[in-house]
Amino acid sequence: MKILIIGYGPGGAAAAVAARMFNAKSEITIITEETLESHKKPGASMAIEFPDTSDLGIEDWSFAALSKKRISIMTGTHVTDGDTKSRQIQINGPKGTSTLKYDRLIIATGGAPAVPDIQGKTLPGVFTIQTMADTSKIGQQLSGMNSVAVVGAGFSGLETAERLHSLDKSVHLIIRSRLMRKQLEEPMSVELQSRLPDDLNIHLGKSPASVIGKKRVEGLVLGDDTITCDAVLFMTGVRPNTEIAEKLGISIGQLGGIVVDATMKTSANDVFAVGDCVEMKDSLTGKPLLLPIGSVAARAGRQAGVIAAGGTKLYSDILRRFQYDRIFDTDIAVIGHSSTTANQMALTSRVHYLEDSTEFAKMALITSDDGRLIGGQVISSRMGARLGYEILERVESGAILDEKPLLRPRHERLREYLESTFGPIR
Ligand SMILES: Cc1cc2nc3c(=O)[nH]c(=O)nc-3n(C[C@H](O)[C@H](O)[C@H](O)COP(=O)(O)OP(=O)(O)OC[C@H]3O[C@@H](n4cnc5c(N)ncnc54)[C@H](O)[C@@H]3O)c2cc1C
Repeated sequence: MKILIIGYGPGGAAAAVAARMFNAKSEITIITEETLESHKKPGASMAIEFPDTSDLGIEDWSFAALSKKRISIMTGTHVTDGDTKSRQIQINGPKGTSTLKYDRLIIATGGAPAVPDIQGKTLPGVFTIQTMADTSKIGQQLSGMNSVAVVGAGFSGLETAERLHSLDKSVHLIIRSRLMRKQLEEPMSVELQSRLPDDLNIHLGKSPASVIGKKRVEGLVLGDDTITCDAVLFMTGVRPNTEIAEKLGISIGQLGGIVVDATMKTSANDVFAVGDCVEMKDSLTGKPLLLPIGSVAARAGRQAGVIAAGGTKLYSDILRRFQYDRIFDTDIAVIGHSSTTANQMALTSRVHYLEDSTEFAKMALITSDDGRLIGGQVISSRMGARLGYEILERVESGAILDEKPLLRPRHERLREYLESTFGPIR
């Protein structure tokens, strides 16, 4: 059996490895436009500072590891077209154009940066970060930049702002409404903002109107204000890259992603899709959902790989949403729904706030009508991932918050700590 996979991000790479595990005999080939080995995108902003990105490689998906698993990879190769009836795709790569046949096809083409359509968006000095090559480009021009505007304050926008700030650049953070609006409740956004450095120039409630400059970026217009800056980084999210799927006549959903079922099958026979290019169904409401998160892409890839290789195993954790990062010395963990995303799904929710001064932590817990925990957020100085996992465990077990409160009383935790360190207390 010939399995072709378009894309070498977490979705495509995980699909290839899973397909190999479930089918020792199949011929598996990954096709990618990129030429670099698979790497951690969360670390991509590090490439701004360190041109040597070898530490960011993902060993299990390296060229050598794939070769050991007898998975072929065609790099620098663009899939230009295809036909699901004759089961073939056209490629254009270092050896020119050719046609490849498949028995099963997995589309993992990721997302394309969603840049607002404003004047000046193509000026030199305007950047997006989608690949390591994008980040390296910024790194090469870094010495000529004193002031940089970062538009968008999701995880990757904040992470990039932190990196530039640590390099003593004057950083402007442009935020349409508030920090991480979709993921965080408003008091949590305020808490996070209070922990950001004072010399970060935060422009709340502002959207870019145009980028200005004669030959390259000289400034960014925000309504009545104009910021003087040498570069503008749009970290404004991604939209599903469905170009190839559309050429193959595969159904695209109302959110603009490829429609897939629970096994990641698309509307075409023996064609699967995973990762940032798809829209899936929310497990609570069945409504369509875009989840452009690397861990989700990898789990969806594993599911598609297994089914494409002839397996039947169904995984229940594909839609698990757990995002954690430590930015500006602050742990940020986001799990499941916020009240904003619940609202988008027409789910009634309530938010409960908790504070734990021993961990300098503030938490928001989101419950549905019946008291079931459907999400949570943590902003803390430390232990954020641990608290996040406690919330995740309760979300996944469908816990009722009253029956399984998040934090045990502090004296109980202190006793547990003392006993584990010094032995039983009588
Ligand atoms: C700066 C940054 C930080 C991030 N931080 C996090 C984080 O902390 N945690 C997290 O979970 N997620 C994070 N993400 C998101 C995560 O990286 C993505 O969700 C994930 O990479 C999506 O995986 P994917 O396999 O769907 O697509 P991608 O990783 O985008 O890969 C798409 C692949 O498709 C290939 N391709 C596309 N079209 C074609 C074509 N026509 N022909 C051939 N090849 C094609 C590309 O070459 C590429 O190999 C971050 C993203 C960025 C940009």
